[in-house]
Amino acid sequence: MLAASASLLNIPIVILDVGDDAPAKQIVARPPADAHVDGSFSDPEKIRELAAKVDVLTVEIEHVDVDVLDEVQKTHHVVVHPSPSTIRIIQDKFRQKEHLQAHGSPVAASLSVESSVEAIHAAAQRLGLPLMLKAKTLAYDGRGNFVVRELSQAQEALTFLGDRPLYAEKWIPFAMEIAVMVVRTVSGDVQSYPVVETIHKDNVCHLVFAPLRSRDPTLSARARGVAEKAVQSLHGAGVFGVEMFLLEDGQILVNEIAPRPHNSGHYTIEACETSQYENHLRAILGLPLGSVALKVPSSAMLNILGASNDMSELTSFAALALTVPGASVHLYGKAACRKGRKMGHVTVVADSDAARDARLQPLLAHLPGGAA
Ligand code: ATP
Ligand code: MG
Ligand code: MG
Repeated sequence: MLAASASLLNIPIVILDVGDDAPAKQIVARPPADAHVDGSFSDPEKIRELAAKVDVLTVEIEHVDVDVLDEVQKTHHVVVHPSPSTIRIIQDKFRQKEHLQAHGSPVAASLSVESSVEAIHAAAQRLGLPLMLKAKTLAYDGRGNFVVRELSQAQEALTFLGDRPLYAEKWIPFAMEIAVMVVRTVSGDVQSYPVVETIHKDNVCHLVFAPLRSRDPTLSARARGVAEKAVQSLHGAGVFGVEMFLLEDGQILVNEIAPRPHNSGHYTIEACETSQYENHLRAILGLPLGSVALKVPSSAMLNILGASNDMSELTSFAALALTVPGASVHLYGKAACRKGRKMGHVTVVADSDAARDARLQPLLAHLPGGAA
C-alpha cells in the first residue's frame, strides 16, 4: 500500500523482502540495474545493501535490526525514519511502556517477569487475575500474549510464549478499544487522524469503525491529545498508530504504539482526504502533509484473515465483496494462505452508519471460515 502511494507520486521505491514476488515488489517493478533487495529485514547485510541504494529508509515492521539501522544512518548517509532510537524503544513492549509512563502518558500497570511459574504467581499477586502476560519482543497480532485466568495456567503460558523475555500487564476491562493515526513531519509538527473504534477478535484486529461514535463530546479531542503527546515523546518523522483503551469512566490508557502505517489506519485510503501511506511518504520526504480529514460520513474496515490454507476461500469472499456498493477490496498478494494470517481487507464507505452497517452485513456473514 505504501508502494502504491509512492508510484502515484513518481517516488522510486526499493524494497527489501524475501523473494521476487514479495507483495510490495508486485506493485513496483525495478529494472535489473537497480533491482529490489532479496532477503530478510532482519539480515544486517541485506539492510546495508538496501541502505546503499536509497536516500531515505523507512520500515513497515518494528522487528528489525536497530543496530544496523543506526550504523547505516552514520556510514551510508541515508536518513532513517522513524529514528532507530524510536524503533528500539517500541520493539521491546515493556521498554515502550516504561518510556510512555516516564513521559506522562497513561498506561496499564506492568512489571517485568522472569520465565518461571513462581514469577508469574508473584506478578498475579501484585497485579491480580486475570493477568495479561506478554512477550516483550517479536510480538504482533496477539501472538505474544497469554491471558492467565487462573494460577494453574502459569506453565501453559510459559510454554505458549516460548523463550522470549516476558512482562505482565494489569488486566484492563475496557469499554472500547480506540486508535488514532498520528503523522509527524521532519520538523516535528504533528497532525492526528480521526479517532476510530477497533474491535479485536482473539487478540487480532477484526473491524475498524471510523469515525468513532460516542456520547462523550470530549472524547475525540482527549483521545487525539493523548495520542499526539505519546508520539511527541518519540523521535523521527512518519506515521504512528496509537492503540488505546477507553475505560468505563471515560479514562484513556495507551496500549501500544506502532512506529509505521498501521492496520487501524487502513480505512484512511478510501475514507480520508490523504491516506496514512501517502502522508507517511510526505512526512519522511519533507513534502507538505495532506489533510487528515474524513471525506465520507461513515466507513468501516474489515480484515480478511485466512481460515485455512485454502486460497479459494479468499477468492470467493473477494468476489462477494465486489458486489457490495462502496466496498473496496485489498488483497495483499501473499503467496500462501494460513489460518489467522492477514490476507487482505475490505473498506466500506457510506453516507450514514446505518447504510455502512447494511453494506457490512453480507461481508460479515460470509467471512472465510464462517460468519463473524
Ligand atoms: P498488534 O498486532 O496490534 O501489534 P500485539 O500482538 O502487540 O498487537 P497487544 O496490542 O498488546 O498485542 O494486544 C492485543 C489485544 O489484546 C489488544 O488489542 C486488546 O484487545 C488485548 N489486550 C492487550 N493488553 C490488554 C490488557 N492489559 N488488558 C486487557 N486486554 C488487553
Ligand atoms: Mg503490537
Ligand atoms: Mg496491538
